Amino acid sequence: MKVQCPHCLSKARITSRNEITTTVADLYCQCMNTQACGASFVMTLGFSRYLNPPLTSTQRLAAHIIGSLTKAQRQELLQGDLFH
Ligand SMILES: [Zn+2]
Repeated sequence: MKVQCPHCLSKARITSRNEITTTVADLYCQCMNTQACGASFVMTLGFSRYLNPPLTSTQRLAAHIIGSLTKAQRQELLQGDLFH
């Protein structure tokens, strides 16, 4: 993971990480431009959103939906008639 110094835009390295929650962490960073900057700073890394839901969620959702169908609807679904 690349981190950029917010002051001089040089490459920075992560020196340590502090988990705030399971989806948010503080990254302690050190600017590698030691001659002209050398700042140390904290960046926050956080989960934003899923682009695809986790497989277990998809399976659970599908099982819930299929479970709400009648036997006839399930057979229709298995025959692929609903996809045409
Ligand atoms: Zn810097």
